Amino acid sequence: MKRSIIIHPDPRLKKPAAPVADLSDDLRRLAGDMLETMYDAPGIGLAAPQVGVLSRLIVLDCVKDEDAEPRPLVMFNPEVLAASEERKVYEEGCLSIPDQYADVERPAQVRVGWLDRDGNPREEEFDGLWAVCVQHEIDHLNGKLFIDYLGPMKRQMITRKMQKLKREMARS
Ligand SMILES: [Zn+2]
Repeated sequence: MKRSIIIHPDPRLKKPAAPVADLSDDLRRLAGDMLETMYDAPGIGLAAPQVGVLSRLIVLDCVKDEDAEPRPLVMFNPEVLAASEERKVYEEGCLSIPDQYADVERPAQVRVGWLDRDGNPREEEFDGLWAVCVQHEIDHLNGKLFIDYLGPMKRQMITRKMQKLKREMARS
């Protein structure tokens, strides 16, 4: 089932999400819904707070080539275990901040630990777009958006555009 994505600004996007204590069927269903919502948007990552659930759960699939096999990843309690000193700038966007893009600098590689759909601990090193995406989604679990890396002027400009968009959406 597709869920609706919360648009910035919204207090739910600013709150830290709670760790998942045990993997209920509800949470697994939510993960499936989030993947469906993400692919439909379309996007490459989605965090539970973006659909109004303040639990530490993210989904991602950064396979861009349409002919390539999809690789949906579901991560409960994801954590950056190590980050490279090398940093990279990437133009980021966010499903909660539609049609706005800006350069964000982050570590180029990260090692991430998480629990998979079956509750098994997993660990993997990510780089390229995967590294950008997984860090962006984990930020969501800490109430942080990519625009929080920008200067105040740019951030306010984007926030005002989103307020206007939300007013227009409410009217239609
Ligand atoms: Zn986002």
